[in-house]
Parts: sequence; structure tokens; C-alpha cells
Amino acid sequence: PRPLTTLNNTITATQAARDKVPAGESVVHWFKRDLRLQDNRGLSLASQKAKELGVPLICMYIVSPQDYQAHLTSAVRVDFEMRTLEVMKEELAGLHIPLYTTTIEDRKAVPGHLLQKFKEWGAKHVYCNIEYEVDELRRENKLVKKCLEEGISFTALHDDVVVPPETLMTGAGKQYSVYSPWFKSWIKHVHAHPDLLDAFPAPTTNDESAKRRFSDIFSASIPSAPSNKLLSKEEKERFANLWPPGEHEAQARLSRFLEGKVSKYQDTRNFPAMNTTSIISPHLSTGTLAARTAVRAAREANSTKKLDGGNAGVAGYISELAWRDFYKHVLAHWPYVCMNKPFKYEYTAIEWEYNDEHFAAWKEGRTGFPIVDAAMRQMKEMGYMHNRCRMIVASFLAKHLLLDWRMGERYFMEHLIDGDFASNNGGWGFSASTGVDPQPYFRIFNPLLQSEKFDADGEYIRRWVPELKGVAGKAIHDPYGRGAGKQAEKAGYPKPIVDHKQCRERCLARYKEGLGRG
Ligand code: FAD
Repeated sequence: PRPLTTLNNTITATQAARDKVPAGESVVHWFKRDLRLQDNRGLSLASQKAKELGVPLICMYIVSPQDYQAHLTSAVRVDFEMRTLEVMKEELAGLHIPLYTTTIEDRKAVPGHLLQKFKEWGAKHVYCNIEYEVDELRRENKLVKKCLEEGISFTALHDDVVVPPETLMTGAGKQYSVYSPWFKSWIKHVHAHPDLLDAFPAPTTNDESAKRRFSDIFSASIPSAPSNKLLSKEEKERFANLWPPGEHEAQARLSRFLEGKVSKYQDTRNFPAMNTTSIISPHLSTGTLAARTAVRAAREANSTKKLDGGNAGVAGYISELAWRDFYKHVLAHWPYVCMNKPFKYEYTAIEWEYNDEHFAAWKEGRTGFPIVDAAMRQMKEMGYMHNRCRMIVASFLAKHLLLDWRMGERYFMEHLIDGDFASNNGGWGFSASTGVDPQPYFRIFNPLLQSEKFDADGEYIRRWVPELKGVAGKAIHDPYGRGAGKQAEKAGYPKPIVDHKQCRERCLARYKEGLGRG
């Protein structure tokens, strides 16, 4: 059985025993990628339980350097999490709720440490929200059982997505592997179960005595980032300015977007220079904003008060948010996608180039294809890249350079502030044509046409590639091919490292050959 099915079964099987667990002396909520107080299912239920039992609520967060390594978490993301924890610690302290944080070097030691703390605090009821990666699901499954053996009830809840994975089935009783019918079914399901979008109340205040009882936790500081995930002073300042932390910032960002830009979202969302998307992905991926909150707020902004129809911008926005749910569903149901395997078996036989120079040029934004270079430099500077550009650079890596898409997938995770395994894997699989519901392999983005269509005036390119600032008119899209070669060369901008037409032919042949073998 799949890890999520196993966990769901364990939860159901242990329900009766969990109901008999005594009150204990505290209730714990274990934060993971749900760093918020508002509309947090696990936290809210933990708080209710604590109130019901008349005991204090304790929150905890474990910094796990090995988890960061395993998930390829970027330093900018780790820094964002640490800054978020600072904000949360203060806010929780205002409610007399302690936030215990610690660093545990050995990933395998995390469950043991958790159990030890539960015992120390006399906690008999523990809550957390489920993460859908395989190791995490397996760990949670063991924890549910182990805790019960120790007389502790451990409740793991679906919170990260609007519709829990493995809920929606095709007419033939199978899991969906194509987005459009899945999305139709998702809309139908949420309309039929509107409570899926109900908000969970924030935790209530602990009795003031918790301040004395857990004074050591209140006075401890948030751990610093592990040594291999440290930012330089300049980066720290830059990213702190670019990405203010915390759920209030996330809510404000979402509200501003829904009061303004959303009305034109559908028409403008593909143009990277226009800054017309919501840019809430860093908050969704650290959990400072729940997907449920975003979808509910969008539904309220729609004239129909439904998820579809009404304002095209709002409906389009909801369908983008649903892609996030879709990719989590894929990860939970086909866990091998997080084990370096393409979704479709036949794509395993494609023979990739392993050209280090090309890979370095792609990473550094000096391929000589201005739109690709602008995008790669945006990611380095901001820890973020516009969605259209993510598709362009991913397609360029896999199809023009014929580099293994997993190298790009990994590099993205190591640099994005919004790195999310499921969405990143889904996006790479889509662009390289190896994933679930992908672009057909013979559809090869022409970077020049993409650039002319989505950055017609070259504003995005000029913003991120200063060497080309002085290049006027349409030459910006291809300076060496359109008479601005001398100017570009003088400014130090590289010539194209490959030829589009040759790459296209090589890619078609190589994919075809691989598919024939696969
Ligand atoms: P908006 O357009 O405002 O959309 C709102 C939200 O909807 C996003 O924040 C995101 O949560 C969700 N969403 C939108 N488009 C997608 C999509 N195609 N797939 C999944 N969710 C989507 N998104 C990540 O959050 N983390 C990643 O690591 C990631 N890697 C990607 C890699 C590739 C190769 C590609 C093509 C896409 C990737 N995406 C990833 C999806 C998408 O690019 C970002 O979610 C989006 O650019 C974030 O900007 P936004 O919040 O302004 O998006």
C-alpha cells in the first residue's frame, strides 16, 4: 500500500484507542510547514483539546539540517523560515503559548526527541499536519503507533491542501493523472463540501501560569540556520527586504492582490515584466498562508461566490491554486516521483547530455538567450522566478541543452524561496515532457518566440540583464542575430551557446529514440 493509504489506515485503526487516552498535563502542536496561527487545522484542534482538558498548549518546531539536505532546501528559504519563527514566537508568547525550538542533527533522532519532550511535558495529546513526502508519511505512521504504545495520542491531519489526496476518483475508480478532469472533479467536490473551506479558529490564550511553568522555553531564542545554509550579510539584508516574514504579511499580500490585480490576472499572468501575479508561493510553501484561506478569499472575491464562473481573473486564479493541490495528489499517490523517477516509465530511456559547461552557463544566466538569462538571474537575485520563465528555462535545459531535467529540478530547489517538492517536480515534469499531464515532447518552446510574445518590449530582459540595457528595439530578444552583436559583445554579453534549429532536431530525435527503447 502507498504511504498515505498506510497512514490513513493506521489513523482509522487506532481511533478507538486514542479516544481512551487520559488528559495529561499539556497538549502539543508540532509545527512543520504550517507556520501560522490563523486557519491552521492541527493547531486549532490542539488548542481546542487543551481548553477542553484544562491544560496548557505547547508548540514545537524542529530544525533538521538533514531534512534540509534531503529536501534540497535553499538557504534563502531556511532564512525565511527562521525569520517567520521569530515572528510566531512573539505572537504565541502574547497568548502565553510557548514555542519550543531546537536543532537535531541526526534526522532519525527526531521521533525519539519528540517522544522524550512529550513525556517531559506530560503531554498525552499531540497534533500535527501531514506532509506528503514519502519519508515524512512513513515517519508519521511510526509515530502514531509508537506514541500509542506509550499512552500518547498522536493526531496527524490533512491541512496542506484543500481536498486531501486520494479523495477524488475517476468514473473507473482510478486516481486522476490529467489535470482538467481532476480540476472539474475538485470544483464539484468543494462545492458539495463547502466546509472544506471553513476557517479554523486561531488558538486561544493559555492560563498565565504557563509563563512560569515553561519559562525556559519562553526565554530561549530561535536556533540559527545550519552552517551549510547560511546567507551572507548582504544576502540576509536583501532577502529580509524582499520577503518580509509571517502570516500577516501573507494575508496582506493576498488581500491586496484580490482587491486589485486579480481582475486582470487571466490576461496578464503570463507577462513577467508586469508583476501581475499574487507572489504568495513563498507563503503557501512555508505555510504562513493556507491554500484553503487563499481559495476561500478568492471565492469571496468572485461575483458568483463560487469557485468557477463570475470574474475570469478570480476563476483563473483558483484554477492555478488548484494545480498546487493536483501536484500534491500526484506526489501522495505516485510516491516514486520523489525518488528521481519520471512519472512515465517510458521516459527513463532518454539519453541525456552531461555537458558541464552548458549547465554552468544555464545556472549563471549566460547562455546568450536573453530571456533565459534574465530568468535565471532573477532567481539568483530574488529566490523567485515568474511562472512563464520557469517553463521557458526548464524547457531550454531539458530540450535545447538535453541536460537531465533532474539537474534543473535540483538547482531550482536549492535556490527558490518557494521551493516545494510537488510543484517543482510537477513543473519540471511538465516542461521536460517526462511528468504527469505534460507538454507533448515534440512541443519545444522557441526561446526567441517566447521572448517576443511574453516580453515584447524587452522590459524584463533589461531589468535582469544589465549588459543589454542599451540595446534598443527588437534586437533585445536576440542581439547577435539582429544587428546588436557588437554592442552586446562590448558589454560582455555572451553569444548563444547553442543553435535553436539544431537543438530542436536533436531533441526530437533523442526523445523519439528514447521512447522507442523505453
Ligand atoms: P500565482 O500565479 O499568483 O498563483 C497562485 C498560487 O497558485 C501560487 O503561489 C502557487 O501556489 C499556485 N500555482 C500557480 N501555478 C502553479 C503551477 N504551475 N503549479 C503548481 N502550483 C501553482 N511553485 C512552487 O510553489 N514551488 C516550486 O518549487 C515551483 N517550481 C516550479 C518549477 C517549474 C519548472 C515550473 C514550471 C513551475 C513551478 N512552480 C512552483 C509553479 C509556479 O511557477 C509558481 O507557483 C508561481 O510562479 C508562484 O508565483 P505566484 O505566487 O505569483 O503565482
